Amino acid sequence: MSKWVYMFGGGRTEGRAGMKDLLGGKGANLAEMAAIGLPVPPGFTITTDVCTFYYANGRTYPAGLEDAIEAGVAHIASVMGASFGDRKQPLLLSVRSGARASMPGMMDTILNLGLNDDTVLGLIETSGDARFAWDSYRRFVQMYSDVVLGIGHHYFEELLEDLKADRGYILDTDLQAGDWKELLGSYKALVMKRSGAPFPDDPYDQLRGAIGAVFSSWMNQRAITYRRLHDIPEAWGTAVNVQAMVFGNMGSDCATGVAFTRDPSTGEDTFFGEYLVNAQGEDVVAGIRTPQHLTILGKQANQSDLPALEELMPDVFRQLDAIRRILEKHYRDMQDIEFTVQRGALWMLQTRTGKRTPAAALKIAVDLAREGLITREEAVMRVDPGQIDQLLHPMLDPRAIRDVLTTGLPASPGAASGKLVFTAADAEAWVRRGEKVILARVETSPEDIGGMHVAEGVLTSRGGMTSHAAVVARGMGRPCVAGAGAVRINVTDRVMTVLGREIREGDLLTLDGSTGQVIYGAVPMVRPDLGKDFSLLMEWADSIRRMGVRANAETPADARVARSFGAEGIGLCRTEHMFFEPGRIVHVRQMILARDEDGRRQALDLLRPYQRADFIEIFRIMHGLPVTIRLLDPPLHEFLPHTDADIQEVADSAGVDVRTVRQAIAQMAESNPMLGHRGCRLGITFPEIYAMQCQAIFEAAIEVPPKDAPSMVEVMIPLVATRRELELTKAIVDQAAKDVFARCGKTIPYKVGTMIELPRAALCAGDLADDAEFFSFGTNDLTQTALGISRDDAAHFMDAYHRHGVYAKDPFVSIDCEGVGELVKIATVRGRAAHPGLKVGVCGEHGGDPDSIDFFEGIGLDYVSCSPYRVPIARLAAARSACRRIGNGHKELADSTA
Ligand code: PEP
Ligand code: MG
Repeated sequence: MSKWVYMFGGGRTEGRAGMKDLLGGKGANLAEMAAIGLPVPPGFTITTDVCTFYYANGRTYPAGLEDAIEAGVAHIASVMGASFGDRKQPLLLSVRSGARASMPGMMDTILNLGLNDDTVLGLIETSGDARFAWDSYRRFVQMYSDVVLGIGHHYFEELLEDLKADRGYILDTDLQAGDWKELLGSYKALVMKRSGAPFPDDPYDQLRGAIGAVFSSWMNQRAITYRRLHDIPEAWGTAVNVQAMVFGNMGSDCATGVAFTRDPSTGEDTFFGEYLVNAQGEDVVAGIRTPQHLTILGKQANQSDLPALEELMPDVFRQLDAIRRILEKHYRDMQDIEFTVQRGALWMLQTRTGKRTPAAALKIAVDLAREGLITREEAVMRVDPGQIDQLLHPMLDPRAIRDVLTTGLPASPGAASGKLVFTAADAEAWVRRGEKVILARVETSPEDIGGMHVAEGVLTSRGGMTSHAAVVARGMGRPCVAGAGAVRINVTDRVMTVLGREIREGDLLTLDGSTGQVIYGAVPMVRPDLGKDFSLLMEWADSIRRMGVRANAETPADARVARSFGAEGIGLCRTEHMFFEPGRIVHVRQMILARDEDGRRQALDLLRPYQRADFIEIFRIMHGLPVTIRLLDPPLHEFLPHTDADIQEVADSAGVDVRTVRQAIAQMAESNPMLGHRGCRLGITFPEIYAMQCQAIFEAAIEVPPKDAPSMVEVMIPLVATRRELELTKAIVDQAAKDVFARCGKTIPYKVGTMIELPRAALCAGDLADDAEFFSFGTNDLTQTALGISRDDAAHFMDAYHRHGVYAKDPFVSIDCEGVGELVKIATVRGRAAHPGLKVGVCGEHGGDPDSIDFFEGIGLDYVSCSPYRVPIARLAAARSACRRIGNGHKELADSTA
């Protein structure tokens, strides 16, 4: 026969904390606290299996439940020395829901159950307080009628207000025992009128009704919505906890409170909590009375005049403080607790893992490991990479008021405020005169790099999570809100409208790149101090992880940030960004518009010294670590001028007229540039471009002294689909190396590898691996080409796709494991079969996404490469994935208790 009910308290506890699936979170923790000897009011838990049965059998209960409940009530009664329905020593009960995952406030609770016209007399006697007893009784009738009989609170509130008006009372506390008793009469009449039946007097009828209502509340709209938002399966069901009532509102020696065993905002090891004297649980959270602090320190820190529990009830406080330590040791984590003091006796009503800020999560994890309560692996598992992400960027002060205009995609985390500008040139000009700016564009192009670099933050009205703006902003660590569709930008008039509001150039704007909010005005910011705890956790993560973590960086500034965040090399240096620097773009344009190879060579000769200097600087910064340089990738027309002034400048420097330049621009237009003349196709059609880049790379590598040189120079070919493409372009690289080495009389080691970013390349990886010394998955393009979804246009429909559950997450953010991930897996297996030991990494945006990193760990990639600001996130995520795999029994955990 199944066991439907588990008792706890009074030396008879049947459940434990590990039984959350069956007993729910609250029930399991009540059992655990009772089992370790903490003062818990006795009770019993009706299991989630009963809930499952209830819904599977037309809302009926399994045979034997009724008897088990009666036994449970008898257990509570015997521990409390009271009896259910007894006139002298009435037992009163609370009935609460408790699912596996906490669903605060979503389901129903009933307190003071067991009261009727008889038992209230017993309560008057045992409490010695008639006012309290009648008030408790009417609270029960009101709560029960609402939850079980469906008669809304407001009907009862109206009756209470009428009575107060009639008597000239202002506060509820003005009511005397007789008033409450009289009100109760009206309450019961109301119940009779609205439900057509008298309020149930029999305590067992009351209990049956309450249990049914709690099970039913699993399917109320609030609970259904909450489950959908938090991915809680309906099949889990809820448990029901029936417990002896304890009262925090029986007089001035009573209290009720909530507390955290450590400070949930800072993580400091201080007891943090609030309480109210002579109150019931809901009064603390309702915010009607000002709660008092638990500790004298807390009271002082908050400049409160009200006495701390430590002063008012020192014995109770000492006992509670000891329980705080016991719970932390026992659960090995910070706890969120609820307690009640009845006539000087402390009762624990709840304990659960406490929610905390990212800063607190970090501090608590590191402190607990240092204190020896958890291992280093556990500490690493306790900090979510998303929390580290938040810590690395300035955040909006959570207390500040926000005038939110609209919400776009949270494309690059962190917050920024500045004056609104609409062009990259304006951004640069305004910053030169000392302003801080936010750059708003419909979408950005490589031309906007300068403006993006000086701006505090970037806003676009179009484009997805891997649009140019998003990728570049993340790379720069610049906050960015992308694809804010409600924003209409009018560059000509320097104004944007958002849902009817006009925002002009120079107006202050704040972006929250972590939530996608676009806010009017400047919101105050806070930047949490990372400090020693952060470095320590990262050290632990590094000692655990298997995969390498590199950075995508192309400027010296990015490379420095990457190194300071612990990058183990550069996994992707996108050389095209180097072409946009002032002084160069004009030569680039000259090169593109040249009529023949000679013209191109002349322009390339002018560019080579710049490229060489760039590489020298990056090599020095990355000394001792590998650097992967990708040859030119984007369609050339991205470099072409758009403004009249730029077109004129190019015409002048090339010695042609403006019309010729315009014609050339028109000729180069492509209808589908992402699938057009780009990547290795450029190297094949204009080999001199790749030759120039390689010459600069090898000259730079030879020029830096060995102690300042990278451990390996890796040249990478973009957008390869066929082996022949790789052969042709690799030949250019090898020839350039040969020429430079011969001329300088010196050689350096180098490798040539390919990006895998087209489905054909993934499928034919075995073929490519014959010629490639490494693979790096360009998962941005691979996602785009595998799913046939344009990187830059996805934002328009991704939201709808998400709502309809087409992709669980934006596939440009988190790898589509079944599709794109499968291609990565196939390519890795086939590549390594052909080329044993082939080094395989990822350099698309997914390289910085924790869920994708978990997938890459699972298929055994060698490293991930991500934007510099994500390097710590990737280090932590890679360590967590390794821990999970070790946890699955792949490898023994080293004994690393701190
Ligand atoms: C990619 O496609 O994933 C990649 C890294 O290259 P890019 O984003 O520069 O196209
Ligand atoms: Mg690519």
